Amino acid sequence: NSQYDVIIIGAGASGLYCALTAGRRGRRVLVLDHANKAGKKILMSGGGRCNFTNYFVEPEHFIGANQHFCKSALSRYPSWEFIGMVEAHKIAYHEREHGQLFCDDSAQDILTMLLDECSAVGVQVKLNAQVESVQAIENDKNARFELLTTKQLSKKEKQERKESGNQTKLPQTGYRCESLVVATGGLSIPTMGASGLGYELAQQFEHTLVATDASLVPFTFTDKTGELIRALAGISLPVIASNERISFKLPVLFTHRGLSGPAMLQLSNYWQIGETISINLLPNIDMTMLFLAHKKSHPRQLIRTVLADYTDSALPKKLLAALQTHLWDDIKDTELANIKDERLTELGTTLNGWQLKPSGTEGYRTAEVTRGGVKTNEVSSKTMQSSFQDGLYFIGEVLDVTGWLGGYNFQWAWASGFVCGEVV
Ligand code: FAD
Repeated sequence: NSQYDVIIIGAGASGLYCALTAGRRGRRVLVLDHANKAGKKILMSGGGRCNFTNYFVEPEHFIGANQHFCKSALSRYPSWEFIGMVEAHKIAYHEREHGQLFCDDSAQDILTMLLDECSAVGVQVKLNAQVESVQAIENDKNARFELLTTKQLSKKEKQERKESGNQTKLPQTGYRCESLVVATGGLSIPTMGASGLGYELAQQFEHTLVATDASLVPFTFTDKTGELIRALAGISLPVIASNERISFKLPVLFTHRGLSGPAMLQLSNYWQIGETISINLLPNIDMTMLFLAHKKSHPRQLIRTVLADYTDSALPKKLLAALQTHLWDDIKDTELANIKDERLTELGTTLNGWQLKPSGTEGYRTAEVTRGGVKTNEVSSKTMQSSFQDGLYFIGEVLDVTGWLGGYNFQWAWASGFVCGEVV
């Protein structure tokens, strides 16, 4: 058995940050990952440019059953700490709206920085390592855990084994460590190495899981609404998207699968199946007031004439035409004077708050994060240590802490990795 001070399962954002922090303290650190490459999600993040943090990080940007849990780590590791590291590595970056920070060139810069920092302090990263079992060892403070791993075979190797009829068990490698950190992330994008191992380990050590679900994910629709939305695929416009809990003034994007764009992804963090969402298509104007005022001042106008002023600037023509067919086809040629105030009010209310009931979301296949996870009341907010098992830690997305879109999920990964790396 190889003995380490710290073993971290997961060479993603939080695992690598924890590793370099512990390594700087002189700890002997091994990072295990079943994937053939470290930090795959970092590489695909932010459209390949990695939105690595945000200038404005507040606990309100995170959801979880215990709203207070994230506060300690976020205040001990503010975003400027990470920005400082990025600058020290001379990585060019820029700010986009709402304080989001992206690499100028490539997300690879962030991954290279993390791996360089790890190797500078002697952290070992072992890829293609399938964790078969984890056992706690009693009465040995220096080796509180034993792990058995096998080599994760590539598709080609698996095929070759199958074809050769080789049924022998793969050789196992054993490791022992004083501290074990679970940094296995969530379930989103299974093709990038996501697995439920972190949740299984949590349960093995008696932890409770808060139900998990795909989040920061586009909505899907069936029936007539689905048809209408699909017909508008490609249109994007700024809206206010809301439900009873929250609202976001951001762009929505119509796609051939449903509704996407920042407004929808943000809202998905706060959405449960069966709930209705509301979209204000003309957030800068009270449409009911406008219709009623025009009815008095220009009684012979048609609804489309009133809206014409807004088509080019705010409402794309294609969307307006589709909405007309959907919402006011019967009165499209009726003068305002002949439309009842109630109907105009109803129409105005719809344009300022289109009520839609998603049938679901695109799920883990495209979700940026997994909401829910290891219950945070059973983990120390200062160190990320399990309340049930000395030496066991959970960091990053595997915990029931989910950030908004905008660099918050990485900031949580760095911050939770840092506070853990300081004590393991
Ligand atoms: P991960 O970074 O996912 O790392 C987990 C690691 O554990 C992986 O390397 C995985 O291979 C490994 N692992 C899993 N199971 C096992 C196992 N059984 N055995 C061994 N190893 C295992 N957030 C932002 O803040 N900004 C963005 O721009 C952004 N863009 C994103 C874009 C996409 C498409 C996606 C999917 C996510 C994006 N996120 C973004 C979210 C962000 O990537 C995650 O929240 C963050 O990576 C979580 O860090 P983590 O260390 O907890 O998990």
